Amino acid sequence: MKALVYHGPRQVSVDDVPDARIEKPTDVLVRITSTNICGSDLHMYEGRTDFEEGRIFGHENLGEVVEVGDAVDKVAVGDMVSAPFNVSCGHCENCEHGLTNYCLRANEPGLAGAAYGFADMGPWPGGQAEYLRVPWGDFQCLRLPEDARDKQDDYVMLSDIFPTGWHATEMSGLKPGESIVIYGGGPVGQMAALSAVTKGASKVMVVDRHPDRLRLAEQIGAIPIDDSQGSPVDQVMEQTQGRGADRGCECVGYQAHDPQGNEDNADTLNKLVSSVRFTGGIGTVGVFVPQDPGAPDELAQQGKARFDFGNFWFKGQQMGCGQAPVKRYNRHLRSLIAADKVKPSWIVSHDLSLEQAPEAYKHFDAREDGWTKVVLHPGQTSNGSGRENG
Ligand code: NAD
Ligand code: ZN
Repeated sequence: MKALVYHGPRQVSVDDVPDARIEKPTDVLVRITSTNICGSDLHMYEGRTDFEEGRIFGHENLGEVVEVGDAVDKVAVGDMVSAPFNVSCGHCENCEHGLTNYCLRANEPGLAGAAYGFADMGPWPGGQAEYLRVPWGDFQCLRLPEDARDKQDDYVMLSDIFPTGWHATEMSGLKPGESIVIYGGGPVGQMAALSAVTKGASKVMVVDRHPDRLRLAEQIGAIPIDDSQGSPVDQVMEQTQGRGADRGCECVGYQAHDPQGNEDNADTLNKLVSSVRFTGGIGTVGVFVPQDPGAPDELAQQGKARFDFGNFWFKGQQMGCGQAPVKRYNRHLRSLIAADKVKPSWIVSHDLSLEQAPEAYKHFDAREDGWTKVVLHPGQTSNGSGRENG
């Protein structure tokens, strides 16, 4: 089968690889029809992780079930399914408690949490490919309704970024009527904004410096805050009568940088502490790592940050962090899409074929204007339904 393979920093190609297949009776085999490029892929693409060469990317997967193992009895051939990016068994202690983001069986002993095509998250091949093996298929696959094929660009967000954005707002403690500031206007930040709007936040502020991303946030009623035009903390203070936002979300991660490109892994964390009110809450879903050999300074190379703990403690804030437990939310978010209450596909800028993936990585990695979210459609030809959305 064809798959997008990593060959070293900023080098990917569509190669012929051995077919994904049923290996255990509990497996489900999915023919991928939609699979996204994620900001998490970019950390790996840029060589800022220990992702092994020769592995396949892709953890935001949707497709049609084409084969099931003998022990699978809920999911059936022909079902359209969304596969959560977290690979999880469903019956370890953490999965039993709803912590599928920290499954104790899907990674090597001593590590918790796994994902498809992801550094340090187990051996699972990714889904930027024609086929994907989904282990523990009955537990993992979320079946999609009749309109799945027509609304793929909405439902494909259920595998990761919509639940992840939702989780960021959950961890922040957001309640209806409260205000919230979101650092990062990438796909994850946009989904956090959509979640906050859906939950009835009184004011949603999104901080970034890319005009196209700020415009997208504005389209759903968020207030764009351009940090290339002045301190985002001051701008949040102005918006909140000097009090600070009730809640905050970190949707950037360890490669946070100023508008000129200078990296500081504590930048967004410290700005969140400063722009969230006393006793407010912060949800951090942007990825941070225990080692970062490619970081610009020694402290960051050891996965450490100059976090302003003094101010955080002084303000009595709380923070949650980590990978999102997709299964906690994806069923209900599916119902919101099915009922046309939300349309997460508003951020999709490009629907492309798998063959176009190497080019797409280049543009998305450069955060080029107009490249906000790429959905790949394996099995479709480049001149087929490949579209660039205006
Ligand atoms: P992205 O790289 O497309 O978007 C990040 C955005 O942050 C960019 O628009 C960039 O301009 C902006 N930014 C950079 N530095 C900033 C700063 N100092 N202040 C404000 N904005 C800044 O990525 P994405 O797809 O939106 O993902 C965001 C993060 O979420 C990544 O770290 C990704 O790995 C992570 N992620 C986590 C989970 C999870 O389960 N926790 C799931 C998916 C993605
Ligand atoms: Zn992702």
